[in-house]
Amino acid sequence: MVAIDVGHSMAAPGAISARGMGEFDFNRALALVIDDALRGAGYRTILIAAEGRTQDLVSRPRQAAAAQADFFIAVHHDSAKARFQQDWIHEGRGRKFLDDRFRGFSIFVSRNNAQWPQALRCASAIGARLIALGRRPSRYHADPWLGSSREFADEANGVHFYDNLAVLRHATMPALLLEAGVIVNRDEELMLLRDDVRQATARAIRAGIADCGYQG
Ligand SMILES: [Zn+2]
Repeated sequence: MVAIDVGHSMAAPGAISARGMGEFDFNRALALVIDDALRGAGYRTILIAAEGRTQDLVSRPRQAAAAQADFFIAVHHDSAKARFQQDWIHEGRGRKFLDDRFRGFSIFVSRNNAQWPQALRCASAIGARLIALGRRPSRYHADPWLGSSREFADEANGVHFYDNLAVLRHATMPALLLEAGVIVNRDEELMLLRDDVRQATARAIRAGIADCGYQG
């Protein structure tokens, strides 16, 4: 049983993409494709917060525990600090974008979750599968200026420690958070909107979950 948590909500949608879409919509679209891919491979799943009205973080891992989930994945899309966001006009509206220093996926695990070693195995496996697709890890979260000096847990596969992430540290099962890509990067936003890209991402996640020991 895999819990798939849709990051943010309709009222508080997270990052705003270079073309003005809320992160929540990206998260939900990808989570639904991941859900299909896992179910198609024989996994049981629970989608959390897909209705868009879940405002808190603690109820998400609690719902996963109630469903006896063996593994928890929070689905997000990325941004970066406001001081790196530049102005442009898209379809007549002023929008913000990030340059190519900010692109790629990142995966986070929390050492305040007792099951973090297993979460890290899965994070490394999923990162390796994404790299095999030709995707690159973003590196800016580890940078003190561009990011927040976020320590690498597995640098080659784009995995960081983020010990205080509430949704991970409150989980009782191995849990990770995936930033699938940077939606404030204009080129990456267009890639992340593509259905074939979402399908490939979902297959990589399914394969990574199998690699770290969960069979459907
Ligand atoms: Zn997010």
